[in-house]
Amino acid sequence: MPLEGKDLLVKDLFEKNSLEWDQDKVKALFPNFAKEILSIKPSRFGAPDKQIWLASSDGQYTTKSGYAIARETKCDLEKTKEPGDCNWIDEVWGIKASPKVKLFLWKTLVGAIPTGLQLVSKGMELDPRCVHCKEPESICHLIFNCSFAKQVWKLAPLVSLEEVPVFTEVHKGLSWLREKKVLPPTGLVFGPLYPWICWNIWLARNQRTFSNKSLSAVEMLLKAILDAREWQEAQDSIVPSSKSGRSLAQETYSCFPCSASVSSDAAWNQASNAAGLSWIFDSQNMSLPQRHSAVCEFVSSPLMAECLAIRSALSSALDLGIQFLSLKIDCQVLAKAISSKSTVVEVHGVISDIFLCIA
Ligand SMILES: [Zn+2]
Repeated sequence: MPLEGKDLLVKDLFEKNSLEWDQDKVKALFPNFAKEILSIKPSRFGAPDKQIWLASSDGQYTTKSGYAIARETKCDLEKTKEPGDCNWIDEVWGIKASPKVKLFLWKTLVGAIPTGLQLVSKGMELDPRCVHCKEPESICHLIFNCSFAKQVWKLAPLVSLEEVPVFTEVHKGLSWLREKKVLPPTGLVFGPLYPWICWNIWLARNQRTFSNKSLSAVEMLLKAILDAREWQEAQDSIVPSSKSGRSLAQETYSCFPCSASVSSDAAWNQASNAAGLSWIFDSQNMSLPQRHSAVCEFVSSPLMAECLAIRSALSSALDLGIQFLSLKIDCQVLAKAISSKSTVVEVHGVISDIFLCIA
């Protein structure tokens, strides 16, 4: 941070006469922490400032929780010291893909894929050339530099996947791919697509080598997307969006004897840290704007997304002068917190606004 900013207060980072972050200012002053800062959603209605220790459920510091955090931080540091400059947890084993795909990624990184050059280096007498283009076949060539691979990546529905650079290390190629977000509509709900494409490039190579069957780049890509979708659909229980909350019994919290009711909901995308918020009013005797939906950036969790949707709904109800409102939400944690008027540390600023709205 530049020296002249040393006396700035939090409010100096807000837009003028507003409680919204001045995004350009935050990004300019704290380029490395802008995402974290913008994910903090301050109270809009003047909830008092409060010191909160995020690692405990009541927001109070305890030595036990402090010790747990210190241990975690130490583990994180150790994790990044893996040999070969690869963070195995984040880059391989923690990826949301099937075990066989993760194993394949791991093998590419440790040089355990039996490509032509690899087999020749082990003393086998065979043609080490690529089955597609007749260049020497290394794993880097096969996944990134081969004309077939380039065709596949060019067609892949990934954000800003312009020209694929030439890679000499698999690790760098995978890091480059990891940055590319999946473009809709692929039907993928979570997790990256690129590991499935890498895996299918290898399968297509084997098919051509051993069965003399060749898939076109489009056919191969479609197969990769279908494989990913099929696996994801079988993983219902780990979908990290608020959709999983729908199976919970719908919780209804009545603030007052109601003359209007509002249902609010949110969906959260982990990859983009963005949320879709929506609410819909149901009222027989009022002419209300029936529904509202919006996208909100820099949202840190599904819980924050739900909370922002509720605040938006209640704030609109206040603007419309509605006095008696029934609020329908499908997030149990928030329903309980609102019913008991107890704060949730992770969303303190926003939930304080909710309490102010219904007070
Ligand atoms: Zn090739």
